[in-house]
Amino acid sequence: MSEVERRQDRSPVPADWTYAPAPESRDIVRLEERYGLFVGGEWIAPKSGEAFTTIAPRDEEPLAEVAQAGEEDVALAVEAARDAFGSWSKLAPTTRAKYLFRIARILAERAREFAVLESLNGGKPIKESRDVDLPLAAAHFFYYAGWADKLEYAFPNRTAKPVGVAGQIIPWNFPLLMLAWKVAPALAAGNTVVLKPAETTPLTALLFCDVLRQAELPPGVVNIVTGDGRAGAELVKHEDVDKIAFTGSTEVGKAIQRELAGTGKKLTLELGGKAANVIFDDAPLDQAVEGIVNGIYFNQGHVCCAGSRLLVQESIYEQLVEKLKRRLTTLRVGDPLDKNTDVGAINSQQQLDKIRELVASGEEEGAEIYQPPCRLPEKGYWFVPTVFTNVAQSYRIAQEEIFGPVLSVLTFRTPDEAVEKANNTPYGLSAGVWTEKGSRILWMAERLRAGVIWANTFNRFDPASPFGGYQESGFGREGGRHGLEPYLRFD
Ligand code: NDP
Repeated sequence: MSEVERRQDRSPVPADWTYAPAPESRDIVRLEERYGLFVGGEWIAPKSGEAFTTIAPRDEEPLAEVAQAGEEDVALAVEAARDAFGSWSKLAPTTRAKYLFRIARILAERAREFAVLESLNGGKPIKESRDVDLPLAAAHFFYYAGWADKLEYAFPNRTAKPVGVAGQIIPWNFPLLMLAWKVAPALAAGNTVVLKPAETTPLTALLFCDVLRQAELPPGVVNIVTGDGRAGAELVKHEDVDKIAFTGSTEVGKAIQRELAGTGKKLTLELGGKAANVIFDDAPLDQAVEGIVNGIYFNQGHVCCAGSRLLVQESIYEQLVEKLKRRLTTLRVGDPLDKNTDVGAINSQQQLDKIRELVASGEEEGAEIYQPPCRLPEKGYWFVPTVFTNVAQSYRIAQEEIFGPVLSVLTFRTPDEAVEKANNTPYGLSAGVWTEKGSRILWMAERLRAGVIWANTFNRFDPASPFGGYQESGFGREGGRHGLEPYLRFD
């Protein structure tokens, strides 16, 4: 026994410093066996008569039966939203703001319940749902509550009016947060909403209906229809929807754009990305390693703006990659409900298959793979945090969105080369720049074709800051004053 251990003999020193399990209790969440559709402030059984089971990706446990909305169901939801539009849009803006403040406050009060459910249904670590998704979702409602009665200041010398009924389709990577990004500005601007959550993660949107009732939001202002892509497609083609807001894959985004062409409906698309995270040789390397890890392993890499292409200046390449690999060995992969977990479960079998296929292509094309030693749970969907070195720009892993915990490392010599490589992508959503020099950050920011550029940080979000892309990453902005504009028309 060492000297220190002997002196503290009444409180034994553990021989092993690994983390003990720290599970978050799921007792706070009360699930229904079966959920209907939330239409006109009521729960209704789907006319389609169809339902599906939603599961927990950590162990494939069935959680609840969820309704599959059909054409008739979507039509009822749109009708409810249209009926509510008249009075909601004429309400005093300060009253609309009060409802939004109420929703924000209730979300903050019920944050733990929502965080547990988000991690259970989506697979993301509880520390992320608790510290990122929930505070940001509440913040979006607080922020847009503030704009509701200030539209004339937001758009001076123009008369802003709501567009009408907004159809909103959201993905599975940030289920509640994407709901907040879409619902808060739409309501602040005086619109009513029909929202379709993703098939694999409907539960927090369904729990949100309870918040709407608690806030006494007038019936029909927000309607939630669950289901797979067919329900989304019905919403897109419904004649009485005035605006579509979509976040998801570029492929579906393009299909929606084709469908809406010539209809006069407003559209915003927030699609995929293949962001470059550029590290210059004067960057604080340990800080940069944390930024790289946060950039790609946050939310299992299921992030449209993930820093999935690491561009490292050649002179620091070996040192940086060594530090990065060492850091990877300390990431804890496992139960999303454990408070110590850094990387949770992959959202679905389908997404896991896609990640595996792209990783196999990387190996076949000649990249060098590194995965830290890591024991994965036996049940559920898991993927070890992965780094590829020796990546050529033409490889699929350097071109395509993997949407998983997989990083491709490339090198550059000069700032010009960094810009050229960073911009060598059909996407244009986000980028990161790591350097000590402010002038270089500005020089890079002028040249990178990306909607969001982070300097010496990554994956930072704020409701006041607009977010959105160029090229195949879509168009339109969410967040900030810009985020109101797609929900308004100007006479
Ligand atoms: P999708 O684009 O298919 O899903 C996004 C949303 O659109 C879901 O609610 C989905 O329903 C719905 N949807 C699907 N088809 C249609 C349609 N024809 N008309 C209207 N709505 C539709 O993305 P996936 O979930 O299939 O993911 C595939 C890939 O997309 C990922 O691997 C990733 O690369 C990328 N992705 C990008 C996201 C981003 O934030 N930019 C988010 C999610 C995925 P349902 O849930 O039933 O499919």
